[in-house]
Amino acid sequence: MTTPLSTRAAHDLSAHELLQALAAKQISAVELAQHFLDRAQAHAGLGAFVDINPEATLGQAKAADARRGAGCAGPLEGLPLAHKDIFVTRDFATTAGSRMLKGYRSPFDATVVQRLADAGAVTVGKLNCDEFAMGSGNENSAIAPVGSDSVQPVRNPWDAARIPGGSSGGSAAAVAARLVPAATGTDTGGSIRQPAAFCGITGIKPTYGRASRYGMVAFASSLDQAGPMARSAEDCALLLTAMCGPDPDRDSTTLDLPAENFSRTLNDNIEGLRIGVPKEFFGEGLSDDVRTAVESALKHYQSLGAKLVPIALPRTELSIPVYYIIAPAEASSNLSRFDGVKFGHRAKDYGDLADMYKKTRAEGFGDEVKRRIMIGAYVLSHGYYDAYYLQAQKIRRMIADDFQNAFKECDVIAGPVAPTVAWKIGEKSADPVANYLADIFTLSGSLAGLPGMSIPVGFASSESDKGLPIGMQLLGNYFAESRLLNAAHRFQLASDFHLAKPAGI
Ligand code: GLN
Repeated sequence: MTTPLSTRAAHDLSAHELLQALAAKQISAVELAQHFLDRAQAHAGLGAFVDINPEATLGQAKAADARRGAGCAGPLEGLPLAHKDIFVTRDFATTAGSRMLKGYRSPFDATVVQRLADAGAVTVGKLNCDEFAMGSGNENSAIAPVGSDSVQPVRNPWDAARIPGGSSGGSAAAVAARLVPAATGTDTGGSIRQPAAFCGITGIKPTYGRASRYGMVAFASSLDQAGPMARSAEDCALLLTAMCGPDPDRDSTTLDLPAENFSRTLNDNIEGLRIGVPKEFFGEGLSDDVRTAVESALKHYQSLGAKLVPIALPRTELSIPVYYIIAPAEASSNLSRFDGVKFGHRAKDYGDLADMYKKTRAEGFGDEVKRRIMIGAYVLSHGYYDAYYLQAQKIRRMIADDFQNAFKECDVIAGPVAPTVAWKIGEKSADPVANYLADIFTLSGSLAGLPGMSIPVGFASSESDKGLPIGMQLLGNYFAESRLLNAAHRFQLASDFHLAKPAGI
């Protein structure tokens, strides 16, 4: 029997295959870590990594080899991963893409990072992201990537002139370019699903509360969720199983549910699965390329035995104003901690305390973050709270109710992740509203706290966007991650979009 490693390069193997190779002693964790560290350097031009620490990585790999040698290997023993730079890490700098935290070193690991390490994963480095996870194109990072001394946009491995999506743009680019088999991301309003779609990979945002937010630099606490990004649903299931679980002492919003093995039901038959197709996801503004690919994926699902059910999510359009009130409101509160006193940047020259605050925050935050702090402070202010924030909260509830109505008729909901494929770097950077509008299909699921995923379903064929990947979104009811992963896996068993590789990779 040919072993996978004897015929293929290590970076072409999936996380599952790498774990098999490690278990079969075809490669050691140290060799694997070195291979991926070399790739991070070789593809530094993508700008995906913002910090590496080879000594720490190789140290973790050595420890993984020792545990495996001693017969006590964890489920991810020796698997190389990288983390979005929004998770705090002891061995690597944590910046959240902000000048405010440049050079910051956390004294502890985020719970999600810790849980993955406990399962045996080895950290290759930290991945670029929009500043405090605010953005849709990774153009809002203020941090220079590894190998460069100036701030650079992260590049989409399918077309270096395009954004990789955001805010988990570094994670998506790194997985698509096979710089790591899988990575962590976070999703507040789409930041796992949208970059996954734009880079042709698979990502899942679990139900709000599945994964601990402890050590995740906070953006909008009622929305933020961690999740895995990998090439396949099968690999996402593997990581998600390690990442999730209650963390009662450190994040009281984590759900008190027993640990679940998300890989267990991957292969279940999807005969009779009712897929809700919301008409609001297929209206004006959806590009022909995305529409064609998503519709053909829906047909594919029918051929696998699923049934399509037309449904309505009537408040889809309202999710944009609602999200862009609630998320900035929470951000304005969360970001008040960056005052130059407790940690992070402090202005060099200042007069009194108020002047120190002003200068520190003016220097430390980028434009998009300042815009959101101002919007957030405004909608929470006396006289405007009732008109904006309270209204938004009421509509948020109605959006969640719409989903519950829809789930009476279907098991999962499917539609596009974003209206278009990845846009060109710079194309929307001067227009924040154009960025916000592109989030239309991911925001409602986040506002409702539902699990959602993105799976690759094709490539654009129009002249201007030829060959760029397209993702389909699958949304499930609360705690239905297994069902989503099962539906995604069955699709991937019968298709090869997730196996396609960008040129030059
Ligand atoms: N694009 C959205 C925003 O800018 C979502 C970001 C996210 O999910 N972190 O807020």
